[in-house]
Amino acid sequence: MNTTLTTLLEQKGGSVYTISSTVTVAEAVQEMNAHKVGAVLVMHGLQLAGIFTERDVLRRVVGASLDPKLTPITQVMTANVLTVVPTATVQEVMDVFTEKRCRHLPVMQAGRLVGVISIGDVSRWVANLHRVEAESLRQYIAGGLST
Ligand code: AMP
Repeated sequence: MNTTLTTLLEQKGGSVYTISSTVTVAEAVQEMNAHKVGAVLVMHGLQLAGIFTERDVLRRVVGASLDPKLTPITQVMTANVLTVVPTATVQEVMDVFTEKRCRHLPVMQAGRLVGVISIGDVSRWVANLHRVEAESLRQYIAGGLST
């Protein structure tokens, strides 16, 4: 749990799906579907302007009966984006997901976007850690029994 996001990003890759702040919701959803991701980052040039996720489609677009083709992304994105640094640990990020009730965190280093960590990335990493630990305990016990 003390592993840093740098390690997770090395394993998953640093690809980040972004859209311009000038697009509509329909275009944003097309991008999310094309890459099979639940969130896209909204960029104003090189600047992070917001985040738009599946939850926003549900609540702020469908729930508010807005037309995706006519709604600018800036109207329904979350502009106040929580970010983390690459030196943050898995435990710290899990705490943010729980406390802030979100499932995506852009990773920023010196003002530059270097990746995105989702709750799915973290739970995959934790599940793998548990598998490895269980296997090493099994081997330890089996070794102890055979001596
Ligand atoms: P999610 O659970 O990630 O689909 O997001 C739930 C809500 O939190 C949505 O309104 C998102 O726009 C918002 N949200 C998701 N990630 C972040 C983030 N890193 N910073 C701020 N808001 C976020």
